Amino acid sequence: MAMPRATLDAWTAHEAARFAVYVHFPYCLSKCPYCDFASTAAKQVPEARYAKAVLAELDARLPDVASREVQAIFFGGGTPSLWAPVYVEAVLAGLSERLPLAPGCEVTLEANPGAADATRFSGYRAAGVNRLSMGVQSFDALTLTKLGRGHDGSMAVKAFHTAREAGFDNVSMDFIYGVQGQTVDQVRRDAEAAAALGSEHLSAYALTLDAESLAEEVPLAKQLSRGEVTLPPDDVVVQMQRVVRDVYRQAGLHRYEVSNYARAGFHSRHNSAYWTGGDWLALGVGASGSLGSTRYANVRSAEKYLALVESNQLPEKGREALSDVERFEERVAMGLRLASGVDLEAVCEAFGQSYAARKAFVEALVSEGLAVHDGGRLRLTDEGLDVHSAIAARLM
Ligand code: SF4
Repeated sequence: MAMPRATLDAWTAHEAARFAVYVHFPYCLSKCPYCDFASTAAKQVPEARYAKAVLAELDARLPDVASREVQAIFFGGGTPSLWAPVYVEAVLAGLSERLPLAPGCEVTLEANPGAADATRFSGYRAAGVNRLSMGVQSFDALTLTKLGRGHDGSMAVKAFHTAREAGFDNVSMDFIYGVQGQTVDQVRRDAEAAAALGSEHLSAYALTLDAESLAEEVPLAKQLSRGEVTLPPDDVVVQMQRVVRDVYRQAGLHRYEVSNYARAGFHSRHNSAYWTGGDWLALGVGASGSLGSTRYANVRSAEKYLALVESNQLPEKGREALSDVERFEERVAMGLRLASGVDLEAVCEAFGQSYAARKAFVEALVSEGLAVHDGGRLRLTDEGLDVHSAIAARLM
């Protein structure tokens, strides 16, 4: 029987206890032109070697997290569905031998909706994965081509049904809007098709390619900078986001974060640790972890990662200790992304900031209909979420 799931509001009531583990799997079949994740196209994936390395990294990091109860585990990528279920099972077993897992611990695996991945779904379910997150991106053939994706819309629908047949009663699908050549009507059709499938969770992100993407040599970012492609203008992207929001809402999916929608109790527990000031241990190539005020990031090269771990070295490219001001800013920016908002007074107090200095701005937000302030929490309205970054910046 499915475990009853707490709402995000109930979840945030236990902030101090929240702890998640992220495992990055960096290999993909090919490199998508818009991708700036730590991923590499590999003909031969060193599956067993990588599983061993991830557990060795876990051993090295264990003193920092010993005995903390894990509420959520997330296998992200990359394309973790290229990792055979036996290796996912081995990593999960290794985690549960070393750290206590909370009852009903959410275990998510990202999957590409290609047919080859779908055949593995029952193996993942048996291995202990209880949530699938599928990178559908779109059902539209042209949009998928522009994104360089190897699946088509019908494969995505089939993969969803295969996930259900494999016993997944918690399925999320990711979509992208704001792709070159895409129209608001196409985005509406994608959203309607996604909602009609009846998954528990949907994410919709605007395609963004910034200076960092350019530095990482993302092909689409380079084409954009040379003027070879153009993305839809900002006002059209905002319309797309509103269309998605309205379609999902009508289908009974609650917008609990700027880009994330869920049926009651099915918010992503793992991502909620990011958004509400929890801690997460990150393992694998290019993974970034956050433990208290410490932030660390691993090297982005798979070969370098394996070489460092196998010579008993931490595979980090850097770490820093955030100041209280930086942590305050992070909490406010992340908290305001959530429909449940942030207890601004409590966060100010926790990090030695003045709430009084921000009170007039909070009142102005409320009187302009950009936020509501109730039960001590400041929550942005739909209009406020549209200008989230500007509001967050003013509160810092
Ligand atoms: S499948 Fe995902 S991680 Fe892999 S290249 Fe494409 S966008 Fe990047």
